[in-house]
Amino acid sequence: MKMERILPFAKNLLEKAVQPGDVVVDATVGNGHDTVFLAGLVGDNGKVYGFDVQKEAILATKERLATHGLSERVTIFHEGHEQLSAKIPTADQQNITGAIFNLGYLPGSDKSIVTQPDTTIAAIEQLLEMMAPEGIIVLVIYHGHEQGAVERDILLQFCQHLDQKKAHVLQYQFINQQNNPPFIVALEKR
Ligand code: SAM
Repeated sequence: MKMERILPFAKNLLEKAVQPGDVVVDATVGNGHDTVFLAGLVGDNGKVYGFDVQKEAILATKERLATHGLSERVTIFHEGHEQLSAKIPTADQQNITGAIFNLGYLPGSDKSIVTQPDTTIAAIEQLLEMMAPEGIIVLVIYHGHEQGAVERDILLQFCQHLDQKKAHVLQYQFINQQNNPPFIVALEKR
C-alpha cells in the first residue's frame, strides 16, 4: 500500500514538529515504544516527559529506555496526564513542540484501565495553552472497545469545536476497514 498507515503517519507528524533539543510529551507511556521514539527525536539535549497511571507501564518504559541508553533525557511521572501543567517545570512548558496520546488500554494488561475523555481533554487543553506555536499533538484513537467508542465520540466533539484560530485539527482514518482500526486526530497550535 502506498498510502501511509496510521502509526507511521503519527510518527511523521511528530518528526515534522520536533527538532533536536526540544521538549516533548508522551501522555500515555504504556510499554514505552513511543517514549523511545520521542527520545530519539529530541536527541542528547532534549527532554521527554512521560505519564502513566499504571506502575506496570512505568516499569516497562523505564526498562525499555535503559535498554536503549535513553534514560537520562526522559522523566516519567506515575501520574495521570491531567497533571501535565503541575508536573512539567514551567521553564520547559513553552518549549514543548510535540505530544502523543496513544489512547485505550495497556496491551497485555488490565483492559478495564483505559484513558478517559475528561482527563484526556483536560491534558489537551493544558498542552494547547503551554506549548510552542506550530507544536503538534497527536491522538491515536482506538475505538474497537466499548469505552473507546465513547471516548472517540467525546473527543471528536471536542476537537471539531476547537477554535480554528487556536489550532488546525486534522483527522486521518481509513474508512472502509473492518474491526474499527485506530485513527488519528492531530492538532497543530497556531
Ligand atoms: N504509548 C504506549 C506504547 O508505546 O506502548 C501505549 C499506551 S496504551 C495504548 C494506553 C496507556 O494509557 C495505558 O498504559 C494506561 O495505563 C494509560 N493511561 C490511562 N489513563 C491515563 C491517564 N489519565 N494519564 C496517563 N496515562 C493513562
